[in-house]
Amino acid sequence: MANKKNLVVIGYGGMGGWHTLHSQDSDVVNLLGIYDIKEERRTLAESRGIKAYKSLDEVLSDPAVDLITVAVPNDSHKEIVIKALMAGKNVICEKPVALSSEDLGDMIAASKKSGKIFTTHQNRRWDVDFLAIKEIVKSGKIGKPLRIESRIHGSRGIPSDWRGEKAHGGGMILDWGVHLIDQLLQIYTEKIVKIECTCTHITNNEVDDGFYLTITFESGAVAFVEVGTYNFIALPRFYMKAENGSAIITDWREKAKVVHCKYWHESEVIPVETAAGLTKTMAPRDSVTVDEYEVEKPMSDVHDFYRNVCAAIDGKEEQLIKHCEMMRVLKVMEAAFESDRLGQPVAFVE
Ligand code: NAD
Repeated sequence: MANKKNLVVIGYGGMGGWHTLHSQDSDVVNLLGIYDIKEERRTLAESRGIKAYKSLDEVLSDPAVDLITVAVPNDSHKEIVIKALMAGKNVICEKPVALSSEDLGDMIAASKKSGKIFTTHQNRRWDVDFLAIKEIVKSGKIGKPLRIESRIHGSRGIPSDWRGEKAHGGGMILDWGVHLIDQLLQIYTEKIVKIECTCTHITNNEVDDGFYLTITFESGAVAFVEVGTYNFIALPRFYMKAENGSAIITDWREKAKVVHCKYWHESEVIPVETAAGLTKTMAPRDSVTVDEYEVEKPMSDVHDFYRNVCAAIDGKEEQLIKHCEMMRVLKVMEAAFESDRLGQPVAFVE
């Protein structure tokens, strides 16, 4: 494509590597090169045929550069983003976009001042498990969600890099929470009224290695997010309780299963025998009263993220990951840290 945007990736580590590979397949961006603060990473890029700029200033003073993707540890996002915007570059910043809402406010102000696009890489908006839950809600078939639980469980602790260090913006709220919160806030559009969060420190005292977060909305509906890095049996990826049924996705690789309640009243309930006696309340439903079905995985193409950014640069589309959404997610994370610190729920004012 003739008008591909020229991209430079700042930070050639794990995720910077992903952005460079992705750009090689892209129909909208053309990789000009990378810059990494470490010489060995620049040498590695060159050995792969990728131009390595010698400094950030060299990147920012190159008039050929249209777009910068910032993929460095979290505590360095703000400085590089603001510098790049003020140098007249459009900027994608990796998640979490900033470490505080105040920092994000400064970054948004720089974007407004420069007139350049500034967004963040919430690439998990393209995850098919999330999209399936979103579609189930949108279809209205099982009614309004009363509670959605979004979980990811691993068993290896947190990575042994800067993610274990507070000064670099480590911990699981900032690493994974940012994705899962962003996803759920795409589903629930109501006002948030309360946040309650407890962090875990099983493998790490410096930062959270997991957490339990409850977001309560104005209507009483709840979004629950759990990240665990010490779970040898994983709980389902998604569980949703809605007005007229339930939905579950047991694992990222699985399709969603939905049980839709057709008739509330049952002619006969066969009790279940438990050790302490019989229960009808907790007995499975008679299958004639429910519809049970699987939902096909939605189509998704993560290249649409860069396509949208490039269209936004050309003024042809509104950017998908908006400043107000970035700010809302960050404020929820701040409230989560505050709730954990106080050991009690905190009010959330929108
Ligand atoms: P990493 O440690 O693998 O790589 C970071 C790289 O940045 C390193 O090579 C380091 O030398 C370089 N660097 C550090 N400071 C720099 C600076 N000031 N200027 C230039 N280079 C610098 O880390 P990572 O896993 O690639 O994470 C980078 C960012 O990407 C983080 O913000 C992380 O949260 C994010 N990330 C996002 C996803 C996603 O799915 N969206 C996945 C993984 C990581």
